[in-house]
Amino acid sequence: MIVVDKTECVGCEECLHVCPMDAIVMKIEKAEIIQHKCDECDRCIPVCPVKAIREVSTQLKY
Ligand code: SF4
Ligand code: SF4
Repeated sequence: MIVVDKTECVGCEECLHVCPMDAIVMKIEKAEIIQHKCDECDRCIPVCPVKAIREVSTQLKY
């Protein structure tokens, strides 16, 4: 799953412009990914100037 680290996001909105799924919204000047819309295309990751967008594993540990 793709997530935004809100402590690093500077609210530039670059990621919003490249998302083909319209899966990124601004909440109080920070980007937030709407998970059910995101298809994990990874396009938003390289455009973020502060590298606040990351892919994280969603594998559950048993
Ligand atoms: S990974 Fe792709 S679909 Fe998901 S938020 Fe980023 S640009 Fe949008
Ligand atoms: S590109 Fe990065 S810094 Fe800019 S709004 Fe998106 S997550 Fe925040």
